[in-house]
Amino acid sequence: MNKRILVVDDSPSVRQQVAMCLEQGGYQVVEANDGVEGLERLGGCAMAICDVNMPRMGGIEFAEKAAGAVPIVMLTTEGRAELIAKARAAGAKGWMVKPFKPEQLLSAVKKIVG
Ligand SMILES: [Mg+2]
Repeated sequence: MNKRILVVDDSPSVRQQVAMCLEQGGYQVVEANDGVEGLERLGGCAMAICDVNMPRMGGIEFAEKAAGAVPIVMLTTEGRAELIAKARAAGAKGWMVKPFKPEQLLSAVKKIVG
C-alpha cells in the first residue's frame, strides 16, 4: 500500500508537526513549501495535505490542479465558508483547521489512504 503523503505548507513548523504526526502513524512524508513545489513533488504520493495561504501558488489553485491526481485535504487557519466552498469545488475532499489534533489528522488520512 502506498503510504506516502505530500504535505504542502509554507510554514516549516507546521510541516514538521504534520510530518511528525504522520510518521508516528506509519506514513512517509514528502514536504513542499507552496503549490508550485507541491505539483513538482506530487508524483508517487497517495494524497496531499495542503495549506490555503501560501506564496507563488496557494492551496485552492493547487487543489484545482492536483485533485484529479490525488485526494486532497486542506489544513488551514482559515474557516471562511466561501473558501471552504471554493476548495470543495476545486476537488478537495476535506477541510481541517489548525491547530490540528494529531488523532483527527491521522483518522482523516487513514480514511483516505488506509
Ligand atoms: Mg500558509
